Amino acid sequence: MRKSAILVGLAFLLCVSLLGPRNSAEAAGFVDVPDRARKEVNYLVEGKIANGSSATIFDSDKPVTRMEAAAFIGRALQLDGTRRPTSFSDVGSGNFGSGYIQSAVEKGILSGYAGGRFLPYKEINRGEMAVALSKSLGYSFDGSLSGAAHALMTRGISNGMEDGTFGAGLTMKRSDFAVFLARAINPTFRTIENNEFKKTMLTNADNLNVRSGPSTAYASKGKLAKDTSVSVAHSIGNWAYVKSDTVTGFVNTYYLRSTDTPVPPNPEGDSLLSSQTIILDPGHGGTDPGAIAFGLQEKDVVLATGLKVNEWLKETPFNVKMTRSTDTFISLSNRTAFAKNNGGDVFVSIHANAFNGSANGTETYYYSASNPHVADSKLLAEKIHNRMITALKLNNRGVKKTGVYQVLKYNDMPATLAELGFIDHAGDNQKLKSDYWRTAAAKAIYYGILDYYKAKGYQVDALYNEAK
Ligand SMILES: [Zn+2]
Repeated sequence: MRKSAILVGLAFLLCVSLLGPRNSAEAAGFVDVPDRARKEVNYLVEGKIANGSSATIFDSDKPVTRMEAAAFIGRALQLDGTRRPTSFSDVGSGNFGSGYIQSAVEKGILSGYAGGRFLPYKEINRGEMAVALSKSLGYSFDGSLSGAAHALMTRGISNGMEDGTFGAGLTMKRSDFAVFLARAINPTFRTIENNEFKKTMLTNADNLNVRSGPSTAYASKGKLAKDTSVSVAHSIGNWAYVKSDTVTGFVNTYYLRSTDTPVPPNPEGDSLLSSQTIILDPGHGGTDPGAIAFGLQEKDVVLATGLKVNEWLKETPFNVKMTRSTDTFISLSNRTAFAKNNGGDVFVSIHANAFNGSANGTETYYYSASNPHVADSKLLAEKIHNRMITALKLNNRGVKKTGVYQVLKYNDMPATLAELGFIDHAGDNQKLKSDYWRTAAAKAIYYGILDYYKAKGYQVDALYNEAK
């Protein structure tokens, strides 16, 4: 019973990640969340930190297990939740929480029991929750349950029980856990105001989104210009809670620098990144469907994939332009002209292949003759190709030189053309028509572009998190 419940939960998690972020209107649809926890639950759902067992049921009164607590905290801090082997005999790599458990243990947020066990299904009590939250948020306390309870109560994260105690031994319900976690993340939910804004820092990038929560899943509340002074409170993972003259919310700490760090004469990172323009070129479109097989049109596959890459790149300091973002026809010469007119620095064309139904796999092209950027084109092609092979798990047809493709030949920037797979091959087609695999392909292209810039010496490490 327990196992099947977990499988159902897991299936639900997969569906949620396939369908993308659930909006707060959906979150507000929970019928079993008490009013006192509604805002907080919705907030965590918006950030994909918590979810219900269905669109209407949050399981508010269900006790939180140690594994669930690891997942809640892990998602809030954006720890690596990839399922993997753990150091515990009772948490296998197939377990949905294995990644978060291992990450939380490595960070010293949670610990196991004697005999190398974690007891993932053991219910967590309020005292243990207080210790885990205090550790994960870096509160200074003496390591004891009462010390952790004090850390939460003085910050207005918990009020304690009516009898004045903290109720350390009491079971933690999901809705209560959500309330504590939301308050810990966002002080606007806390029961007392405590001004934590103690440190001043400067922003490193223009158009910096200030978000309502600590991830790109949260809506932007406003934007800050480069070199804006902000007051910084606490951090949640890599996100800092900051206040400027105009807006209060979360920014990625990657985009902040301390006031005593002068702007480097040869600035690293964002100002260099924001000087770079990436051209995404989904092939075909409008009256030109590209290859067609099994009812699937190439133009639709490559547009859907390109739009996802665009979405992530837009969250970075890079400039990104698409030759087409709708189902329209663009000539090949207009594509290269568009790239040049927009000052493109790299050009990534996205296509799907077709042959005779028997060929299959992923291949990536660059042009070797008159484009002066042969070496960089090849590097870009290799980086994207390697990521696609890992992500799509299709036949590896390699990185190839070609003189055929106009968008490569008549470009004057590093350029590559990715053929995701064969639309007329039954196996490849299954993946090309699936949103899950298109997202995987898009991530591969996004990561490949970052890998390229990393190889060129740009600081892009923090940007890998954008596509999660
Ligand atoms: Zn094509």
